[in-house]
Amino acid sequence: MIKHNSSYKDLAICGGTPAFSEKLHVNKPNLGDSDFFIDQTKTILQSYQFTNNGPFVQQLEEQLASYLNVKQCILTNNGTMGLAILVQALNLKGEVIVPSFNFISTAHTLMMQGIKPVFCDIDQANWNIDPHHCESLINDQTSAIIGTHLWGRSCNIDQLEEIADRHNLKLIFDAAHAFGCSHKGERIGGFGLAEVFSFHATKVFHTFEGGAITTNNSTLAERLRVIQNFGFIDYDEVALIGTNAKMPEISAAMGIANLLSIHTFYERNKNVYKKYQQHLANIAGVSLLSYDDKELNNYHYIVLQVDETVTHLTRDELIDVLHKENILARRYFYPGNHKMEPYRSIPKKVEHKLPITDLIASRVLLLPGGSGVTEAQVTKVCSILELAVKNAVQIAKTMNKAVSLKVD
Ligand SMILES: *Cc1c(COP(=O)(O)O)cnc(C)c1O
Repeated sequence: MIKHNSSYKDLAICGGTPAFSEKLHVNKPNLGDSDFFIDQTKTILQSYQFTNNGPFVQQLEEQLASYLNVKQCILTNNGTMGLAILVQALNLKGEVIVPSFNFISTAHTLMMQGIKPVFCDIDQANWNIDPHHCESLINDQTSAIIGTHLWGRSCNIDQLEEIADRHNLKLIFDAAHAFGCSHKGERIGGFGLAEVFSFHATKVFHTFEGGAITTNNSTLAERLRVIQNFGFIDYDEVALIGTNAKMPEISAAMGIANLLSIHTFYERNKNVYKKYQQHLANIAGVSLLSYDDKELNNYHYIVLQVDETVTHLTRDELIDVLHKENILARRYFYPGNHKMEPYRSIPKKVEHKLPITDLIASRVLLLPGGSGVTEAQVTKVCSILELAVKNAVQIAKTMNKAVSLKVD
């Protein structure tokens, strides 16, 4: 077990006892007032209205539209279906430009509708879709651009809007990470033609499973509501191809309960983040992703960049060290969508080079963050990292790896 004066030999990877007896996940679900949630559940059970745009869904849609400062909020059964019905409602075709450094659901959703995802590199500054590279990928098949506000840090929205306007393309955003975050002081939710949120249990605001599409375009919102309910426009009249993307009442009730505590979640997240910031400052070669203090942030993700030329342990070796201690640190989006099947094997006219994606995907490591983590746990996680990096050579030896130290 790791204590103040521990030696690297106490690390679990060297045979010591794991620092945590239970697994510490990257984002343990948040839970607001559970008594309030249970009360609401009773109301749902007594009403026998369990789904189909019930009163809880309607209430949460109103609350979220007002909170996110957008005209329309359409709740869905998850974020992926939200994106799927949006792609259909906007009649996207041909090719759509997406960042490769992203959750795989966007690319899959496009493929399932016969659209080709074209992978774009990320901007070195904010790791979001790079507008310059994006513009170079546009051709006569391109119908849209999808940006992702990765870890809640907003895309270069103004540049993307300008490019989309100039080429007559549709612009939408994956805002799965960006609940409660802002761009130039304005809450994410109203940018582009529409934005899609995920309310999966591991997100800062959740409804067990769920999602939402937010838009200021009422015609689009109406069309989305029809598509999400099998294409019904009346009691038994169908007008277009639709699916089932409805949120059940029980999920909306969870959302209503969690929204009451959202500011507590942000505050606890920020405290956890600050604690990491303080401890990680001592570890050379490991840098914590920064959030712009002038913007609203949810501080839900603890993202590290590992420079192995300084740490002398690779990102993957550090993950091994942490996993042995029951700290389930994760790589994210590794090795990038463009290097995952089936995308890797799809024949291409020109092979696109995505150097920043390749670099960042090889360096990023996520640590347990969010309001489920205690400050004592943060301290422990950081002391393990510090001990590992300070004794990198011995640890690498233990891991049967020869480390070639660069001496200059
Ligand atoms: C979680 C997530 C999704 C998928 O949302 P689901 O609600 O799980 O379908 C999409 N994009 C990003 C960036 C995500 O983090």
